[in-house]
Amino acid sequence: MSCVLVTGGSRGIGAGISRALAARGDRIAVHCRSNVAAAEALVAELPGEGHVVVAADLADEHAVAEMVHAAVEALGTIDILVNNAGIYLDQPIQQTGYEEWNAGWREVLGVNLLGAAAVTWQVVDHLRRRERGPAGGRIVMVGSRGAYRGEPTAPSYGASKAGLHALTQSLAVSLGPEGIVVNGVAPGFVATDMTEQLLAGPAGDGLRAQSPFGRVGEVADIAAAVAWLSSPEAQWTSGAILDANGASYLR
Ligand code: NAP
Repeated sequence: MSCVLVTGGSRGIGAGISRALAARGDRIAVHCRSNVAAAEALVAELPGEGHVVVAADLADEHAVAEMVHAAVEALGTIDILVNNAGIYLDQPIQQTGYEEWNAGWREVLGVNLLGAAAVTWQVVDHLRRRERGPAGGRIVMVGSRGAYRGEPTAPSYGASKAGLHALTQSLAVSLGPEGIVVNGVAPGFVATDMTEQLLAGPAGDGLRAQSPFGRVGEVADIAAAVAWLSSPEAQWTSGAILDANGASYLR
């Protein structure tokens, strides 16, 4: 049994990850920004016992520190961190004013990259302090196919995910000597709140046709990848970003 913090665990991919890890016997701190009711409803239906809800806006570094401390208090420790929370902002450069452009970049990087970096600092600090011999632990970053393929209408989103992938690689090297394994997953389109409108609209069929399987990803597809990347067997993939996009984009 491992104790896990899943950021953005209240909905979508994070909820799927929380379900998959609880099903294998882990105890989950389900994090959300403000949707506490959804997180509590999920916790009530997770298999096993001892799951909790924690909340923080990841753009607020003080709230992040308090949130990680609350998760450690409630679970007893954190063995696995899944940096899943993220936001997407459609902001084509040609149609965006200068002030709006800069505000958008600050907002997206503030959550997707700086927020993930802050949560990671707090969890690594905890792993290094706990009295269990070598720190150990697993960190999984939820990146995106967009980091490689480009995000023409959401460039700050693509850049934030490319940064997250680079953070994965850097920390895999710097934390390896302490027994901490850092992996990433790069999903293509997945059916969640984030993509609901797009997939239901005129572009939906084209998006499904990007994959030779003729569909977009399901939350469970990504959760299965994260379950493996956070397992004890995943040490030798440390530093890798696993593509999970149904062969819709090969690099
Ligand atoms: P989602 O359904 O929109 O859920 C987003 C989650 O992040 C929610 O739990 C939300 O909390 C939390 N969150 C949002 N802003 C936050 C903030 N400022 N501080 C703290 N938490 C915040 O998203 P999703 O589609 O499941 O995506 C999950 C991850 O996968 C994201 O990193 C996304 O970039 C990545 N991804 C998604 C796709 C896709 O097609 N869906 C593809 C590639 C990568 P509340 O419930 O409280 O709002």
